Amino acid sequence: MIIKKADIETIAVKPQQYPEGNLKEIAFAGRSNVGKSSLLNLLTKRRNLARVSGNPGKTRTINFYLINDEFRIVDLPGYGYAKVSKSVSQNWGDMMEMYLAGRENLVKVVQLVDIRHAPSKQDVEMYEYLKYYGLDGLVVATKADKISRNQTMKHIKIIRQTLKLSSEDKVIPVSALKKTGYQELLDELESVLGE
Ligand code: GDP
Repeated sequence: MIIKKADIETIAVKPQQYPEGNLKEIAFAGRSNVGKSSLLNLLTKRRNLARVSGNPGKTRTINFYLINDEFRIVDLPGYGYAKVSKSVSQNWGDMMEMYLAGRENLVKVVQLVDIRHAPSKQDVEMYEYLKYYGLDGLVVATKADKISRNQTMKHIKIIRQTLKLSSEDKVIPVSALKKTGYQELLDELESVLGE
């Protein structure tokens, strides 16, 4: 797949604000600072579609991007930022729950984890949650440039084990910095949309 057109469609905090119509949606989830904005900018070849943040945990909205006028990429708010208050994390949970559990357009959630580290407790919880809703199966290991090539398989194995992935589940290493891995991810998105 080639992304020719990408535009922000809606920024939402509640279901009444979600865009209308029956376009399929693929959402992206991960802890704050995992590299989600950088990846979305790489996929859409837009430098500033998603804002790369020096201030993790700031985005508390669900952002809907219209892609090629054919489907949507949905940027979910990052989790795991230590400095947010209880009420903020409660809001986050409610917002995620309403979208993930209630959105009919949603066909898959791409779970992002940092390739350098074993997935955190929250990453594991997030993935369990996706499994429960049948939205799992596609993991992106971000910042692949931060480890050497011959370490990649070892790190992917740790990710697979920690998230308890099945053999059909995919882990795609991607580097937004070096612009690698994204075509494989786009092809995967295409096949998800075609199902
Ligand atoms: P988000 O909070 O998940 O949206 O993460 P950002 O895209 O804002 O990135 C967080 C930080 O990681 C920024 O300082 C980015 O420059 C850096 N970063 C993102 N992707 C990569 C990557 O592929 N390689 C490296 N080395 N750094 C990255």
